[in-house]
Amino acid sequence: MKSILVTGGAGFLGSHLCERLLAEGHEVLCVDNFYTGSKSNISNLLQNPRFELLRHDITFPIYVETGQIYNLACPASPIHYQHDPVQTTKTSVHGAINVLGLAKRLGIKILQASTSEVYGDPDVHPQSEDYWGRVNPIGIRSCYDEGKRCAETLFFDYHRQCGLSIKVIRIFNTYGPRMLPNDGRVVSNFIVQALRGEPITIYGKGHQTRSFCYVDDLIGGMRRFMDSRADFIGPVNIGNPGEITILELAESVLSVVGGPSKLKFLPLPQDDPKQRKPDISVARKELQWEPKVPLKDGLRETVAYFRRTLLD
Ligand code: NAD
Ligand code: UDP
Ligand code: UDP
Repeated sequence: MKSILVTGGAGFLGSHLCERLLAEGHEVLCVDNFYTGSKSNISNLLQNPRFELLRHDITFPIYVETGQIYNLACPASPIHYQHDPVQTTKTSVHGAINVLGLAKRLGIKILQASTSEVYGDPDVHPQSEDYWGRVNPIGIRSCYDEGKRCAETLFFDYHRQCGLSIKVIRIFNTYGPRMLPNDGRVVSNFIVQALRGEPITIYGKGHQTRSFCYVDDLIGGMRRFMDSRADFIGPVNIGNPGEITILELAESVLSVVGGPSKLKFLPLPQDDPKQRKPDISVARKELQWEPKVPLKDGLRETVAYFRRTLLD
């Protein structure tokens, strides 16, 4: 049993990670400022004596004792990270400095939840880890993209300069239960719209592509990476290489939910990447990991979750 700190543990991915770590028998300290996370995400964990919750903003120093750190704290959807872009950059950069300082003081391993957004609107397809990306440094997505890029820089510099044990994972679009119904991400938007019989909002022509990974697969990859050999520090892409257009996603959601929704076409947001698909050969080789859950199965689970929560 280890004592493990999860920042952003009350969020979508963080709550699934906390749950998995507890099921494995570890002690979990969940640190969250509830910016986008919620107590309801972890309500089933609060009774567990091995689970502890600390309300804290990681842009401020944090002095706790723990044996390992997963740094997930950061709003992840465009609506939320663009709501207070300065805070987003602070969370990525100041937050990284604080958790890295904590890991350095304790001499422990730390994992950074980075993102496919470090590749920006990519001109290399699919994206492999050695691609440096095509990111606008001054656009409306930059607070997130550049914040995450700077956090990666900090992780690698703490590794080189202080000998810190690090792991950097680049997460591609992930979906599943506990996504927020109102955070504007495409899977949650489409499901909620379909369940309410409202129009499905397609930005642009819907020909842009994404590759969607079910949350259980993602958490499995993250766990495997954290426990992998010390000299494999990443960055490593974790995601599902099954690439589809946004129009195809709309059709899949509608076929799972049913209902009368029609498609509604709206303008494409600024800097919206045209295509995205992870090259996961590094994860396959180094972690013997690949996603298992087909899109239809994952959508069914996610739709069931939204049916329950929207009816509450
Ligand atoms: P989320 O918004 O559900 O979770 C983020 C959590 O961090 C929330 O609980 C929020 O309250 C907390 N938080 C935000 N700022 C904080 C701060 N300053 N101090 C403490 N807590 C803070 O998002 P998510 O989808 O669960 O994403 C988790 C991590 O994974 C993020 O770092 C995100 O960038 C990364 N990621 C997610 C995806 C995805 O598809 N979900 C893709 C790529 C990367
Ligand atoms: N820090 C923290 N918890 C700790 C140790 C450090 O939050 O247990 C913060 C500390 O506030 C500092 C940052 O982490 O600003 C970076 O720490 P580091 O030791 O790398 O740098 P320094 O303190 O020399 O600036
Ligand atoms: N999108 C859409 N309709 C929506 C929400 C999003 O067509 O209601 C598109 C969006 O323009 C993008 C893709 O779906 O091309 C994925 O958007 P999301 O915000 O989920 O993820 P990201 O752009 O960060 O990959």
